[in-house]
Amino acid sequence: MNAPQSPTQTQVEQVKLLIDGQWVESKTTEWRDVINPATQQVLARVPFATVDEVDAAVAAAQRAFASWRDTPIGARMRIMLKLQALIREHSKRIAQTLSAEQGKTIADAEGDIFRGLEVVEHAASIGTLQMGEFAENVAGGVDTYTLRQPIGVCAGITPFNFPAMIPLWMFPMAIVCGNTFVLKPSEQDPLSTLMLVELALQAGVPAGVLNVVHGGKQVVDAICTHKDIKAISFVGSTEVGTHVYNLGSQHGKRVQSMMGAKNHAVVLPDANRTQTINALVGAAFGAAGQRCMATSVAVLVGKAREWLPDIKAAASQLKVNAGCEPGTDVGPVVSKRAKERVLGLIESGIAEGAKLELDGRDVSVPGYEQGNFVGPTLFSGVTTQMQIYTQEIFGPVLITLEVDTLDEAIALVNSNPFGNGTGLFTQSGAAARKFQSEIDVGQVGINIPIPVPVPYFSFTGSRGSKLGDLGPYGKQVVQFYTQTKTVTARWFDDDSVNDGVNTTISLR
Ligand code: NAD
Repeated sequence: MNAPQSPTQTQVEQVKLLIDGQWVESKTTEWRDVINPATQQVLARVPFATVDEVDAAVAAAQRAFASWRDTPIGARMRIMLKLQALIREHSKRIAQTLSAEQGKTIADAEGDIFRGLEVVEHAASIGTLQMGEFAENVAGGVDTYTLRQPIGVCAGITPFNFPAMIPLWMFPMAIVCGNTFVLKPSEQDPLSTLMLVELALQAGVPAGVLNVVHGGKQVVDAICTHKDIKAISFVGSTEVGTHVYNLGSQHGKRVQSMMGAKNHAVVLPDANRTQTINALVGAAFGAAGQRCMATSVAVLVGKAREWLPDIKAAASQLKVNAGCEPGTDVGPVVSKRAKERVLGLIESGIAEGAKLELDGRDVSVPGYEQGNFVGPTLFSGVTTQMQIYTQEIFGPVLITLEVDTLDEAIALVNSNPFGNGTGLFTQSGAAARKFQSEIDVGQVGINIPIPVPVPYFSFTGSRGSKLGDLGPYGKQVVQFYTQTKTVTARWFDDDSVNDGVNTTISLR
């Protein structure tokens, strides 16, 4: 079976901008190819928009805000209900495009869409999420209440690895709160994101409420410095996320930056052996290791170090192939550049003295010889100074370290610069409780390899994995996308009331 054709692919599609409800061609001279990572087929060309085009998108969002902020909550909720129904209806079609442009398997592409769909479902409950508070009689006849009001034009900048889920973390929650939005999808795989945006328009999102610009640093910097943008949600690498956080904050914006990771799975010898090994291998090599929550380090505690041969055996069973092929476990990494980087880090691990237990460098996939494939790769004997430990590899590479105690494992995880996700595998409730209390990481799994929170909680992160104090989706993002106004009110039902002049700060 050949890789699926993009729906608009009879000739190479020029990806459009969405400004004020219109799909428009960019006037830029700078374009980049969207490439199928399994075949190198050019699926589309994406523009690097001009600063004028960013300005036009923000201006459209600013105009739309005037009426959208006053649109009744029920109307906003019903758009989200319609959107979730449309996403369900078109999920399989979007998954084909997502797999073709990103490389992940069809099943995983459907998972990517589903995890975003859950956020849209949650957005439909904004009626209760955005409620303020009310206190009656804070003084004689005086009531105090809060309003959670939208803040204006918000922006989202997304990474390549979840082109459905992460845009859906952002724009549904922002607009359902009454804001308008400018989305900048990853330039590497924007096609499935745009299919979701198209569905949002079909669901009834009015012109100007959701706008899309494409590009790289210049567009991102224009967003971070734009005077009319109030808040920015960023997801991507720590390097870029730190830049976005600093630049956006300097320009007075709220910024949440969800960034890179090095996720440790700590394995105690009392854990369920089969379940743990399955979990480790699935979480390390699924999506070719390109999940921000992928397990990239296994910390084998005490006798669990004897499990290494089983981990190797399970990893070597995985089938490397194009994401569109049935039975594929590990698809290609997103680009030739990404593959070179992963291979370079594997070389560095060998050069720095780690033991290469399983070598995925020379994998070749019949029918997809040009694909950016790296097979499951396993290192043992890794130390914390090695680049394969200090850097996020973002490929199908699992490294293992060995320690003697849970305390040592916790200290190791807490000394790593990243704090995105971690897991403990054990049958001991006491060990699990100690771990969840002492570990300095945003997402903690107990016998769960990829503990991405469901949408009624919020995604979090710690240290080098997150900047800004509020995370995407859940209750936190409603705070992020709204500002609180506190009203203190008194009404008189009798014209003769006269309390006299009060020159103190007290309410009576
Ligand atoms: P990236 O940082 O290269 O790109 C993210 C976004 O920033 C893209 O839209 C890109 O166009 C833009 N960008 C790239 N270079 C830029 C520059 N110099 N200046 C301004 N903007 C720039 O990230 P990526 O490779 O697309 O995604 C992978 C990274 O994202 C990994 O580090 C992964 O851990 C991280 N990630 C984190 C989370 C999380 O929730 N913490 C989730 C998913 C991915």
